[in-house]
Amino acid sequence: MKTTLIIGAGGVGRVVVHKCVQNADVFGKIVLASRSIGRCEIIKNDFTDADIEIRTVDADVTQEVIELIESCKADIVINVALPYQDLTIMDACIATKTPYLDTANYEHPDEAKFEYKLQWARDEKFKEAGIMGLLGSGFDPGATNVFCAYAQKHYFDEIHTIDIMDCNAGDHGYAFATNFNPEINLREVSANGRYWQKNEDGQGEWIETKPMEIMQVWDYPEIGEKDSYLLYHEEMESLVKHIKGLKRIRFFMTFGQSYLTHMKCLENVGMLGIEEVEHKGQKIVPMEFLKTLLPDPASLGPRTTGKTNIGIVAEGIKDGKRRKIYIYQVKDHEDCYAETNSQGVSYSTGVPAMIGAKLMLQGKWSGEGVFNMEELDPDPFMDEMMSQGLPWQVKEL
Ligand code: NDP
Repeated sequence: MKTTLIIGAGGVGRVVVHKCVQNADVFGKIVLASRSIGRCEIIKNDFTDADIEIRTVDADVTQEVIELIESCKADIVINVALPYQDLTIMDACIATKTPYLDTANYEHPDEAKFEYKLQWARDEKFKEAGIMGLLGSGFDPGATNVFCAYAQKHYFDEIHTIDIMDCNAGDHGYAFATNFNPEINLREVSANGRYWQKNEDGQGEWIETKPMEIMQVWDYPEIGEKDSYLLYHEEMESLVKHIKGLKRIRFFMTFGQSYLTHMKCLENVGMLGIEEVEHKGQKIVPMEFLKTLLPDPASLGPRTTGKTNIGIVAEGIKDGKRRKIYIYQVKDHEDCYAETNSQGVSYSTGVPAMIGAKLMLQGKWSGEGVFNMEELDPDPFMDEMMSQGLPWQVKEL
């Protein structure tokens, strides 16, 4: 019987546990480990008869993760802790020759870089250890990369432009809250935007924009028109390497006015800072303090209504003719909560994490080294999405 080690017991971790239990024939015994045992206990209590063991680990310490992997004889590690732990967990997987999967690129706590460089640099070591590392197996990155690979495989000879369109029309009733870890979320949206395009000489270049400088109104099926703002998002870094003939790629995300106003105010007063400041003789990091004040994203589930719609719009050439398609997935927050006790953003991240791990354990996705999602055959992943709660649609535009 297999043993699946899941590290991280937040909103996403909870969904991963639920979906692995639903697919117990593949995942076998589940070991859920996190920094605090309390959060693991809450998740374990969702089940009466599932084979789940809970453990504590400080995943910032490679040796602790090595000991955890060895003691539970894990066949795979699903990392749904925070991006800060990616490298230590990857190194523990190399040391123990255990396949690895995550949902977000590595970040240093002091400086957000939004890049795969340090994870890609471990490719050789993964090869030497004879194991697979799957990077970014959430929704975006994750399913969106697979949508691009699927479009490339079935709909185009060459894709020229891609817009990734991410809409969360969920309402949690708070004036301001983030749908996943506040530090990670607020860093992402308060940073300068960036998109990639080929210049007249055919060279790819990144064009930087001010935060929220570029906006388009997009009509999201089953939701309606929403202001969508250009952001940098990590999946673009790998997609520009792997999608044939690409001339431009952009990423857009919706934000409501209340969210934007709060964010602007917090930024103006320095609350999004990630450098230590002195307060009454103590050192505090403003962003960490803000995290303490904001609602825990894992607690938003029971109060969130509305839908998410995330997809890609790809334009290019098929058999000499221009073509434009939209592949998207719509999910209802309340349905997610009914199934997994988690809201839609955690759900749509946790399900692809489970699917990626399932395909690895089944040997349908295999290889040695580190991989981004679009490098693998999209078909089995797309099939699993249909049956695991994330059905998608393709629309010819
Ligand atoms: P949460 O903050 O809800 O949960 C994170 C969990 O990781 C908590 O249980 C936390 O424990 C644990 N953790 C933090 N540090 C450590 C450590 N040093 N050792 C062990 N455990 C630790 O985050 P989410 O569940 O919302 O997000 C999980 C991951 O998913 C993040 O990396 C996020 O960036 C990613 N994500 C990806 C998306 C995608 O589409 N690709 C979308 C949304 C999220 P404790 O509570 O004790 O601190």
